[in-house]
Amino acid sequence: MKSSTWDYRVFWEETLKQIQADINKQEFLMWFTNMEYLSSRDSHVVVGVPSTFYKDQVRQRFLSTIEEKLYDLSGQNISVLFKIQKKEAKENHPGTKAEEELAPTKVKKKRKAHSQLNTEYNFSRFVRGENNDFAYMASYAIAKNPGKAYNPCLIYGGVGLGKTHLLQAIGNAAHQEHADSKIVYVTAETFTNDFILAIKENTSHRFKNRYRSVDMLLIDDVHFLPGKVETQEELFHTFNALYDGNKQMVFTSDRPVSELKRLSDRLRNRFERGLNVDLQPPNYETRIAILTKKIEEKKIALPEDVVELICRNIKTNVRDLEKALTKLIAYAELVNRNITLDTAERQLKDFFSHHVYKNISIDLIQKVVSEYFGVSQTELKGKKRSKAIAFPRQVAMYIVRDITEYSTTEVGLEFGGRDHTTVMHACQRVEDRMKTDSSLQPTIQYLNRMIREFRNE
Ligand code: ADP
Ligand code: MG
Repeated sequence: MKSSTWDYRVFWEETLKQIQADINKQEFLMWFTNMEYLSSRDSHVVVGVPSTFYKDQVRQRFLSTIEEKLYDLSGQNISVLFKIQKKEAKENHPGTKAEEELAPTKVKKKRKAHSQLNTEYNFSRFVRGENNDFAYMASYAIAKNPGKAYNPCLIYGGVGLGKTHLLQAIGNAAHQEHADSKIVYVTAETFTNDFILAIKENTSHRFKNRYRSVDMLLIDDVHFLPGKVETQEELFHTFNALYDGNKQMVFTSDRPVSELKRLSDRLRNRFERGLNVDLQPPNYETRIAILTKKIEEKKIALPEDVVELICRNIKTNVRDLEKALTKLIAYAELVNRNITLDTAERQLKDFFSHHVYKNISIDLIQKVVSEYFGVSQTELKGKKRSKAIAFPRQVAMYIVRDITEYSTTEVGLEFGGRDHTTVMHACQRVEDRMKTDSSLQPTIQYLNRMIREFRNE
C-alpha cells in the first residue's frame, strides 16, 4: 500500500546525491550505502539503518546536514526518523515495523479533477532524468508547499520538453492536497484574450478580481506576452497583489526571460525573482526511460531494438518521441501486424531525417567550421563576441548538437567553458535564423558533408 500521497523520496535521494558530492568516498560508502529509504509521512521521512550504533553515529555526524539539505530542497522542515532494521526481521516480515507504525489509517479520498487541468499531466507520469530533475523537484516542492517553497517560479525550455506537463502537475497535485485553495491555470494567450475582452465589455474589474483572488496562479507560455503592453501591465499588478499575499505563481516560457524581447523591464524583473529553472532535451538513457514508460502506459509491446532505434534517432524532445510512437501504433493497428525493426525503420523514415553521425569530435567540427568562415579555431573557442566570430561559433555549436550526442554542458566546455544555456541560445538563434535566411540551411548541409568527408579520411 502506498503510505502517503506525498512521497519525499525525491528530496531524500537528491540529499544523498549532494552529500555524496560533499564528503569523501569512503565516508559515504560507510555511512550512506546501508541506509534504506522506507516511507514518508506528514513532515518526516523514515529511513532504515542496520543498528543502534549506526543510528547514533549517523545522527551525530550527519543529521543536521541532512535536514538542512532537505529544507533547502523542499522548502519545508522535513525531519528524519531512523528505524533499526534487523536483516532477518526484514526478510521475514516484508512490511517493516517502521512502516506499519506510520502507515496512515485512511487513504485520502480523491477530489474531483480540476476543470482547467488535464489529470494525465501528473508527477507520476513524468519521467525524471538529469535534464529535468531540478525542475521536477522544484515543481514537486511547490505543489506540496505553495507560496513557500519557490515563489515565483519560472520553468523554461524548448518545445515538447514537459513545461506544460510540470505546470499542470503542480496544479493537479495542489488541487488534491489543498482542498480549499483556488487554483487557476491559464495560457498567456488566454489571459491576454480574456483581458482584451474584459476591457471591451467593460468588465475589467471582474477580471482583476478573478485573478487577484486566487491562491495559485499558473500561467503557461509567457513568451506569448512580448509586445502586449496592456496585458503586461495588468499581469504586473496581478503579480504584485499575489506576491504580497504570499500566493504561489508559476510561469513557463520557451526561453529564458532575459531573451524575451519587448517585455517591460518591471515584468521581466518580477519573472526573474524567485526561481528560474530550465528543462533540457533528454539524453539517450532518459529517452529510453520515457519511451518505455509510454509503451507501458499504452499497454502495447514493442521490441527493444525498435525502442532503441527511435531513441537513437529522435533527440529533439519528448513530443517527437510520442509522435513516432503514435505513428507506429497506428500502423500496427492498420495492418494488424507486430512491429519489427524493419517496418519501424521504413515507417519512421521521415522522422529520422537528421542522421546522427558516430564518432565525430567537437574538435573536427570546430576545424571545419572555422576554416569555412575564415576564422581561427582559437577565436571560435575564445571570448570575442564580434559578429564575424559569434556567428560561426553559433553555427558550430548548432552542428555539434545536431549531429553528435554531446550534451549542451559538454559543448559549452569545448567552446571556451561557456555555460550550457549559452549553447542552447546559440542553437536557438541558428534555428531562428534559418527561418528567415534561406542560404543558411544549404550552408549547414555543406558543412555537414565536409565534416563527414573529413571523418572518413
Ligand atoms: P511543452 O509544454 O514544454 O511544449 P509538454 O509539457 O506539452 O511540453 O510535453 C510534451 C509531451 O511530452 C506531453 O505529452 C508530455 O506529457 C510529454 N512529456 C514531456 N516530458 C516528459 C517526461 N519527462 N516524462 C514523460 N512525459 C513527458
Ligand atoms: Mg506547453
